Amino acid sequence: MKDQSTLLSVRNLRTEFQTQNGPVKVVDGVSFDVGRGKIVGLVGESGSGKSMTALSLMGLVSSPPGKVSADGVFLDGTNLTQLHPDEMRRKRGREVSMVFQEPMTSLNPVKTMVQQVGEPLAIHTDMGRRAIRENVLRMFETVGIPEPAARLDVYPHQLSGGLRQRAMIAMGLICEPKLLIADEPTTALDVTTQAQILRLMMALRDRVGTAIIMITHDLGIIAEMCDEVNVMYAGQIVEQASVFDLFDRPSHPYTRGLLASIPKATEKRTTERLNSIPGVVPNLAKLPQGCRFHPRCGDAMPVCQVQQPELTDLGNGHKARCWLHNKQGGKL
Ligand code: SF4
Repeated sequence: MKDQSTLLSVRNLRTEFQTQNGPVKVVDGVSFDVGRGKIVGLVGESGSGKSMTALSLMGLVSSPPGKVSADGVFLDGTNLTQLHPDEMRRKRGREVSMVFQEPMTSLNPVKTMVQQVGEPLAIHTDMGRRAIRENVLRMFETVGIPEPAARLDVYPHQLSGGLRQRAMIAMGLICEPKLLIADEPTTALDVTTQAQILRLMMALRDRVGTAIIMITHDLGIIAEMCDEVNVMYAGQIVEQASVFDLFDRPSHPYTRGLLASIPKATEKRTTERLNSIPGVVPNLAKLPQGCRFHPRCGDAMPVCQVQQPELTDLGNGHKARCWLHNKQGGKL
């Protein structure tokens, strides 16, 4: 861990899957920090490795076929990579929890909301049923579920998508974790509910002090919520900066493409709008030689096709993985 203000320190995280054609690296050398109470974004298109980074941090990648390794993943000084699976299970829900994109797939359809939202308390504390019920009720109030008492004993299908997502956030926060990982928590919601959920998460961060890793394909959400941001492409971080620096001086051509894709206020928000970058994220089993972005990059130089750039410090903690910012760039 770097200092007292750093809650999470991820160093050289690597995740690979065994396939018939050999190992495929889906997360390749990812390093970043999350400060206490900070909101840090992981942004990129589908297949960039951002969700797999989160699942790897949470110890939720099944092995086999997956294999996660790292120089260290330090949460408040504890190296999570050295924990026994039982110890990691105890950390999950208590110290670090995760909210997924589509609550219907994460919620159990045959359990009531109070049973599910209260489950982390049942697992991680010695609270009795009555105390758990009271806590869930309080948390439902906190996350803005109307008529909270009437929602305790209903099943997930009896709630709207927005209320299910609020309930998921309630479940993620009920043990007041140090870190919440939110994976596209608003993508399946309408724009109004999306804005409410984002405001709610920021308010909870301010009130409870929980740090948040916000995973999204949407730089608009990053701009609204995050303190720092990591842009991911093909399993790697290609740009890392404070949110101010990223929007003020985007330095990687991929980031500039993402920024150009942010819809105007008058345009409909959809998940398919990253269309100003030509081409698609490469197949991770057949990565291009050199810079992984070069087949889609309008700034590509000869060196880009043969040599992979390292993440280079541009000053003030702003880093980019691009030969445009490396003195060796363009020498080939
Ligand atoms: Fe484009 Fe080259 Fe930079 Fe890759 S290294 S992003 S191909 S300029």
